[in-house]
Amino acid sequence: MRVAVLREDSCQPKKCNDECHAFCPPVRNGQECIILDDRSGKPIISESLCIGCGICINKCPHDAIIIENLPSELEQDMIHRYSMNGFRLFRLPTPSKESVVGILGPNGMGKSTAINALSGRLIPNLGEWMDKECNWDGIIETLPRGELRNFFISVREGKIKVALKPQNIDRLPKRIQGTVRDLLSKVDERNMFDEMTTELGISHLLDRTVQQLSGGELQRMAICATLLRDVDVYFFDEPSSYLDIHERMRIVKIIQKLAETKRVLVIEHDLAVLDVLADLIHIVYGKKGAFGIFTPARSTRQAINTYLDGFLPEQNVRIRDKPIKFLNHRAHGAELGNEVISWGGLEKQLGDFKLETGDGAVHRSEVVGVVGPNGTGKSTMIKILAGEHEYDGGWVSSGCSISYKPQHIDVDMDCTVQVWLDSEIGPRWRSGEYHSNVIKVLGIDELLPKRVKKLSGGERQAVSIAICLGREADLYLLDEPSAHLDASARMEAAKAIRRTMEANEKSAFVIDHDVYFIDILADSLLVFEGEGGKVGKAEGPFPLKEGMNRFLSGVNITFRRDHDSKRPRINKSESRKDREQRQAGDFYSYQS
Ligand code: ADP
Ligand code: SF4
Repeated sequence: MRVAVLREDSCQPKKCNDECHAFCPPVRNGQECIILDDRSGKPIISESLCIGCGICINKCPHDAIIIENLPSELEQDMIHRYSMNGFRLFRLPTPSKESVVGILGPNGMGKSTAINALSGRLIPNLGEWMDKECNWDGIIETLPRGELRNFFISVREGKIKVALKPQNIDRLPKRIQGTVRDLLSKVDERNMFDEMTTELGISHLLDRTVQQLSGGELQRMAICATLLRDVDVYFFDEPSSYLDIHERMRIVKIIQKLAETKRVLVIEHDLAVLDVLADLIHIVYGKKGAFGIFTPARSTRQAINTYLDGFLPEQNVRIRDKPIKFLNHRAHGAELGNEVISWGGLEKQLGDFKLETGDGAVHRSEVVGVVGPNGTGKSTMIKILAGEHEYDGGWVSSGCSISYKPQHIDVDMDCTVQVWLDSEIGPRWRSGEYHSNVIKVLGIDELLPKRVKKLSGGERQAVSIAICLGREADLYLLDEPSAHLDASARMEAAKAIRRTMEANEKSAFVIDHDVYFIDILADSLLVFEGEGGKVGKAEGPFPLKEGMNRFLSGVNITFRRDHDSKRPRINKSESRKDREQRQAGDFYSYQS
């Protein structure tokens, strides 16, 4: 089966010479393989006449065309096709009774399309995109007998109600007016207002307006609003963004409790969280904006290991060039160079909040992970080191140049990614180690012609990380680089940061809440403790294992290692391993 997709956003007929049409061999032989639309001037590609030569893909100056061959067996599994050369979705995840079903894969592969289909908002057309009269019976007939078919029978009968926690909570303040109390009381269909607001730790925020909330508070409010609805299926799209580990674990417990009586689907890119949260996982793979394929559900452990390995044996499909590997022990520590920056007894008062630090130092080639609860001053300390904040007491060594990626990336540039890179780091990005270690692995070469304003959250994050790493500096400070990146992009970004520091003998501070991300990149940990919004105390950096032990004992969770992939896995609370490790003070074990 041949799939020809036009990326509508990228196609700019006014800025090209219709190269796709001019060079297409069948067109030159008089066949209407590509015709140009009278009104838009955009190409319409016939999949039956296309010979798959790929010439148009290379000739298009805006990378707007995708031509792919897919196994013909998939044809019968097509669930939806938006238009002639539009995105296609194959197979669906199954919302199972009394389970948390996880979805693992990049954005742009049809997760939202699938959710819309499962909720009945989009009637799947099974590929017959011209047939606007598409009906439920046709769809139900094509599905094999089983849970998904039964589910769609209920959808057809209007019996299924769904609630969705959207991915982009940043947009909520622009769309919703009023206080948190107003918003939540309107959706309290289960009469659980007090219970849920307490469980989510937001009862002290009820009289604030939505506009006054931080990212983590907005996230908890959005999750609470979803939980209060009385529906059959609950979808949580990236529930962990902006939350610290303590809050992520709290959400895990709440969602698991919900799944005791309801169907729950979760899209999550923090693999430690997904691992402990989901009962089953569907992997979704494909080509961004072109097609997406859901695999049948597998056990959580097997799905995550397969995903990290990058090869789907049942489908015989490679989804990544190389496996993502976790190290059992970091062989690094001993080779650290001279001190690059040091500090002692820093103090900073900000309104009601007070930050204090112990004494610490960072060495050449060292990557320091920075962990701790929200609101304990991680970003404040980074800003002090970056020279952006004054401090009230203590000292910081001087003379070290700094490149800084803030948490919130506000770019208001009206230019392409290529121009943005040129203006920030000059022409160096086009070649050499930086190009192969950073630009390529972060997928930035594919974004070069895109306008900065049109980048998704994840794309903007990737370019910002690249720009931070591309500047000349002694010390690199990155505040929450994993935010908005999918699981695969997170691991690639962690490796890119590490390699850049090793290759150039530079040092980095990386604030993040994703344990897999920290495990891959960090040599040592700076640990924040305290009470969000009131007091924060920074201790360390400690060697990674020692720091993790200290940090996790505060959060009260233990990790073991998977014996195959060597990835860290959260132990079930009160399981035998959990109790044994807790007793031994081994919160971050390298044993499986
Ligand atoms: P995900 O949720 O995994 O990010 P989506 O389901 O939102 O993926 O979208 C997958 C692709 O489907 C998008 O890249 C887009 O090209 C296409 N798409 C989404 N909605 C529409 C629509 N209403 N019309 C045409 N194409 C769409
Ligand atoms: Fe024409 Fe298909 Fe070749 Fe593109 S890939 S130039 S549409 S034959």
